[in-house]
Amino acid sequence: MINFTVGPVQSSDAVRAIGAEQVPYFRTPEFSEVMLENERLVLSFAQAPAGSRAVFLTGSGTAAMEAAVMNLLTQADKAIVINGGSFGHRFAELLGIHRIPYDEIRLEPGRTLRPGQLDSYAGKGYTSLLVNVGETSTGVLYDMGMIAGFCRREGMFLIADAISTFLADEFDMAALGAGAMLTGSQKALACPPGVSVVALSPEGVARAMSAPRKCMYLDLRDALVNGERGQTPFTPAVGTLRQINTRLREIEAAGGAPSERARIAAIAADFRSKIKELPFAIFSDRLSNAVTPLRPLTAPAYDIFTTLKDEYGIWVCPNGGELRDTVFRVGHIGALTTADNDALIAAFNDMRRRGLI
Ligand SMILES: *Cc1c(COP(=O)(O)O)cnc(C)c1O
Repeated sequence: MINFTVGPVQSSDAVRAIGAEQVPYFRTPEFSEVMLENERLVLSFAQAPAGSRAVFLTGSGTAAMEAAVMNLLTQADKAIVINGGSFGHRFAELLGIHRIPYDEIRLEPGRTLRPGQLDSYAGKGYTSLLVNVGETSTGVLYDMGMIAGFCRREGMFLIADAISTFLADEFDMAALGAGAMLTGSQKALACPPGVSVVALSPEGVARAMSAPRKCMYLDLRDALVNGERGQTPFTPAVGTLRQINTRLREIEAAGGAPSERARIAAIAADFRSKIKELPFAIFSDRLSNAVTPLRPLTAPAYDIFTTLKDEYGIWVCPNGGELRDTVFRVGHIGALTTADNDALIAAFNDMRRRGLI
């Protein structure tokens, strides 16, 4: 099997080897060391400003999104959500569930946010902006410099869901002035699913520490206080956190976030250069290195996903909902090589010979 989805993705041999070990007891100085190192490396790779903190929640990426909404915003806030697909829509749903006032900027699937689209929201008392740095459902990478500039001018608290773009695309939390950065274990961290990360700037930490307690399991204040000694309030996904540690150290040894980003960018560029002759159009107008969204010109997208899976042992990422038959996505995160790209291109060429695309 070759896995070109956007998560869970393929893990390195070292990460997989940890998965075969017994899971240790965790209220120990040894596990605290692992957790403190995880926090330090995530903050360094996110280029978080001094005084930032990161906590690890047991739950998929959506747990980090919900924790951010519950702990960093209150009913006194007035938020803007950039909704360009299913992950933007998820933020809007979460704000609705937790009764945080918000307005959404809806975008056509595959279109990025243009500067003029924010202008009419200036000076209207908005306090926060939530955006998926990459809207993974359509492969759009938003212009975070432009969005962060707007937030800075308006004095707004920026919550950046970098779940699929962390380590794949440039993200400088300090330069952007982001208050929160979210990511998850099964995207470019290339570990099993089940752990999500909330990185907080000093302003984000202050918001979390002063927020009224709304729940027990996703309470960020409790996580921050326990995290000071490298611990978590409840039993975390101990095995996955050890795999994350191995992976973060692997990335650091190979040159840190810039090298990993360059590696993923090279895999993406290699793939994009090899599909020029195939009957696919690129679906989106501003691409992340993490994923290439493709609109097939000659066959339904979902059929291509099924044929590749069942007849070639290759997994690409199908779309759901309205885009089910128009778009499929090829991920570039995880342990993939250009030789894997060649195997996928060979499968596409074979499907073309068979009249399937
Ligand atoms: C994967 C992803 C999530 C989280 O999804 P889970 O299935 O809960 O892990 C959130 N936002 C974006 C942009 C994602 O790519």
